[in-house]
Amino acid sequence: MCHTPTAELDFFASLLRQDQCFAEQVQAKGCEHCGSPLHQAHYQRKPRGLPPELRNDEAYARRYSFCCCRCRRRHTPVSLRFLGRRVYSAFCLLMASFQGCFETAAIQQLSVPKLSLYRWQQWWNGDFKQTRVWRALTTKLQPVTRLPDDWWRQLGGATWCERGWQMLGALLPLTSQSSRYFRMSEFTQNL
Ligand SMILES: [Zn+2]
Repeated sequence: MCHTPTAELDFFASLLRQDQCFAEQVQAKGCEHCGSPLHQAHYQRKPRGLPPELRNDEAYARRYSFCCCRCRRRHTPVSLRFLGRRVYSAFCLLMASFQGCFETAAIQQLSVPKLSLYRWQQWWNGDFKQTRVWRALTTKLQPVTRLPDDWWRQLGGATWCERGWQMLGALLPLTSQSSRYFRMSEFTQNL
C-alpha cells in the first residue's frame, strides 16, 4: 500500500487548522446583517483529490458554514481546502493545473478526468484573470503568459508547501460568497 509522505499530510492538516480558525472568527463576530449569534450549519462534502489517508476523514470533508439564528442568512467562511463549490480540493485544482501535470503519476493517482483538467486550465487563464484577486496580483508579479505556472515560479517560498500555502491564501477571496466580510489581514502566513 502506498503511503502519503508525512510532510504532505502535515500540509493538509495545516489547511484544516487554518479553516477552523476562519470558522471560529466568523462565528465569534456574529451575523454581519443583524448582529445575532450564528449557529453551525456545516456542509458535509465529498472532496476528491486528497491523499488516501484523508479521503474518508469526516473532519476534512466538512465545509464550515453558519446560519444566523434570527435572519437565517448564511455565513460561509473562506477556505484553504475548498475553492467554491468545486468537488476537487483547492490544492488538487492548483497542482493538477500545471502544464505537463497530465501525465505525472501523482495526478494519475488522483484520477482527475482530463476534461476537468482542461476546464481548470481554461479557468486559470480565462475567468480567473477577470477576478479582483488577479487584478491585485498583477501589481506584484512580473508579466505572466500561463497560469498557474508563471505565478508559481515567482513565489518566494523554498518548499512546495510554502508556495502552495501562499497561493491558496491569495485565492481565499474566491472561495466563498461571504468573502466580502473577510480581511486578508486575518490570514496568518505561518504554516
Ligand atoms: Zn442575522
